Amino acid sequence: MPGLKIDADKCIGCGKCVRICPVNNLAVENKKVRETGKDCIRCGHCVSSCPKGALQFADEDDAFKKGWFDGRLVSDSDLNEILSSMGMGTDPDIWIKVLQGAELDEYIESSMDILKKSSSGIPLVKEWEEWNERHDFLEPNPVLWEGKQVLFIFSDSPEHAFSASNKMVVKGFGMGVRGFHSNILMAAYHEDPGRLESFFPGFKGKMYMAFVIGHGRRLIEPLFKPLEKFKGLFR
Ligand code: SF4
Ligand code: SF4
Repeated sequence: MPGLKIDADKCIGCGKCVRICPVNNLAVENKKVRETGKDCIRCGHCVSSCPKGALQFADEDDAFKKGWFDGRLVSDSDLNEILSSMGMGTDPDIWIKVLQGAELDEYIESSMDILKKSSSGIPLVKEWEEWNERHDFLEPNPVLWEGKQVLFIFSDSPEHAFSASNKMVVKGFGMGVRGFHSNILMAAYHEDPGRLESFFPGFKGKMYMAFVIGHGRRLIEPLFKPLEKFKGLFR
């Protein structure tokens, strides 16, 4: 399979693409990125996230661009298509909401406040606080990476929630909508569901998923170690 075309003159070795690659196919050496192997799944995240435009597929064509997250909001009509494929409105056991904009900012602030008061000691909370204090919104919110919308699934049934989550991935992937499951937002919900449920008037059941629409994200072990105690919540 053709690999990436790397423009070494443009690459500044920032490592953003390395952190974003879901299969560890990239590494920075001597301040330049290189591919480590042949594991590329052609998700396009590195290409779309490189601030210098140093990456492209060796056989780049427009078909691949469709799936690349470039910071845009998913339109209401695309979201509605995804939500209906997940059973929203037809499966009585599924209730879904997407938060974005000021409402999402407020939700994240409440979630971080909950985790700050808990004993979880999650490093990302500190990272978020520092980012929030700097008030530099040119830097992406570390909780969302570069995502701007979060899709939440509520249900009374873990099976229905799981099925809706799978349908979202299948439908969304085909439409170019990708992202990552946010353990940190789930952790905040499990600490204090009552406080966060006020963001979801009319919700049914309990929250089973918080999915950040945007780049896929590789789990970084040290970041998630403090979440050991939350293991099992999603079984
Ligand atoms: S994101 Fe772009 S500039 Fe940064 S290391 Fe990767 S290729 Fe180089
Ligand atoms: S296209 Fe995706 S899998 Fe391939 S190197 Fe880039 S981020 Fe990694």
